[in-house]
Amino acid sequence: MLTGLIAFILGASIGSFLNVSADRLPAGRSVISPRSHCDNCGRKLSALEMVPVASYLWLRGRCRNCRAKVPRRVVVVEAGTGLIFTGLYLGYGFGLEFVVLAGYASLFLLLAVIDLEHGLILNKLTYPAALASLALAPFWPDLGIPRSFMGGDTAWPLLLGALAGGFLFLLPFFLIALFNSNAMGWGDVKMAGVIGLAAGFPMVLVAMMVSFVSGGMVAVILLLARRKGRKEAIPFGPFLAAGGIVALVWGQPLIDWYLGLYPPV
Ligand SMILES: [Zn+2]
Repeated sequence: MLTGLIAFILGASIGSFLNVSADRLPAGRSVISPRSHCDNCGRKLSALEMVPVASYLWLRGRCRNCRAKVPRRVVVVEAGTGLIFTGLYLGYGFGLEFVVLAGYASLFLLLAVIDLEHGLILNKLTYPAALASLALAPFWPDLGIPRSFMGGDTAWPLLLGALAGGFLFLLPFFLIALFNSNAMGWGDVKMAGVIGLAAGFPMVLVAMMVSFVSGGMVAVILLLARRKGRKEAIPFGPFLAAGGIVALVWGQPLIDWYLGLYPPV
């Protein structure tokens, strides 16, 4: 119980940092300095005003000085990251698996928020994440997360499995962006590649299924609800993020379940 609460507080604090990053990274500003301040009146926030979730609720979502509204996204991301971390703790305990999965979940969440607000998927996030995922690929079993590719679970098969996953997820987005870059940007191509590298084959199939189905459903709902004359591209980052998180956390059990339903002949 207490450690579950610690996981939530840890996640909410990381969420708080994700909020600052989502505000500053698209503008090319530093995520470390200056200290957090009110965007409206510029007053620096005191320690009491920077407690994740609690400060927002206590101040009812407004600046203590000028009463300007704090964006609702702040508390949604803090609480959301807190819940994800709590879930990961309940599933894995605090260990290397937790660190890696929490790291990926935080990255995917940040990419999703920035895409939702700016329609951008930043290279300065996807490029390092791609490199880190390649470097990590051979070590998944050492982290306590068993993986294999083509029957092998040593370094080379695992690296190939990651590359196969990245290629498979990237390909449809690459083709769409190639023929119609208004429908899908190159950022989506790179983010899909990162998720594929992280999930590897066959778990990438879970990420693809979740992204395409959730994205497709929301697109249909928005098309039906769309008022005349409005035409906006739907940012795909949040659906990729959802697919990535589901694949990394529940990918193997979902695949085992599916193969149990339809055993290969
Ligand atoms: Zn203010």
